[in-house]
Amino acid sequence: MTGNSFVAEAMKLEDEELLFRLDSIRERERGELARFLAALGEVDRRHLIERKAFPSAYTYCVRKLRLSEDEACRRVRAATACRKFNFILSHIADGSLTLTGLALLANILTPENVRSVIRRACGKTTREVARIVVEIAPRPEPTDSIRSAAPASESNPTAAPQGLSIGRPAGWDRVQACSADRDSYSFAAPTNLRAAVQRIKEIIWHQDPRARLGDILLRVCLFWLEHNDPQVKLAKNGPRAKKRDSKPGARAIPEWVQDEVRKRDGGRCAFEAEGKRCGETSGLEFDHIVPFAIGGPSDDPANIREVCPNHNQYLARLAFGEKVDRRKQDGLDRLPP
Ligand SMILES: [Zn+2]
Repeated sequence: MTGNSFVAEAMKLEDEELLFRLDSIRERERGELARFLAALGEVDRRHLIERKAFPSAYTYCVRKLRLSEDEACRRVRAATACRKFNFILSHIADGSLTLTGLALLANILTPENVRSVIRRACGKTTREVARIVVEIAPRPEPTDSIRSAAPASESNPTAAPQGLSIGRPAGWDRVQACSADRDSYSFAAPTNLRAAVQRIKEIIWHQDPRARLGDILLRVCLFWLEHNDPQVKLAKNGPRAKKRDSKPGARAIPEWVQDEVRKRDGGRCAFEAEGKRCGETSGLEFDHIVPFAIGGPSDDPANIREVCPNHNQYLARLAFGEKVDRRKQDGLDRLPP
């Protein structure tokens, strides 16, 4: 249908019909949302997202289902809660609880409080639900302690839960675009950050008397990456040499093998399915293609690859069964920061 035909269809309706149409569309949407959340939970339970070479439910929602980042975040949070407490889905379907409200509540629900909290939240506005959340789990820190460029804005109630990746989403602090090349960041930090930044300002005063907080933090981050990012070190120094004394048959992956694998895999998850590569860059771990436990060597780059945490778990589960799935019990995504 074209845009015009949608409008023409609405224009044809009498007043009461039009209002009825609006109500019934909304009702269908709510039912579909409950179905979506149940399906997302089930897709995760069957590990289908990992099988399709996506690193997380969040990434799947954004890249495959074309949801916005905020919407994906809300749905993953809500689906996580509904997977644990199925009865919540009926409140989504009947409209007594909104997706945004449930996403806010998701992290504070426990088997002990879930019935009473959901009962309190039903029929409430997002602001009222937010108040219930802070009542149960007071914020340990002020939301914003450093602000570089943008004026204050309302705290984003859809910030991703801890554990969702940036990309995956990271401990998700707020980032808002200010201009083509400037963003505004807000985050809480240890109180001594202020003194440390002030000291750096004093030291660099002659070179850059107007240095702003964001520019200083960027310098510090780039300096850290220069010295700690394995990909940067590899590009600068090349792969470390093979040592003669490396022990054949040992589980530990020798440094020269790690470097060869990093060079080959390019710092991206190497898991592939149906011609698609995962490509996640966060929290990469080395994986034995033929498991070490059944004789796969650690000192052969051809038997080692870099994979993201979810695919590492997925592959371990394929090789050794469900019992290895210890890290992913509470949410849909076990995601690196
Ligand atoms: Zn992956």
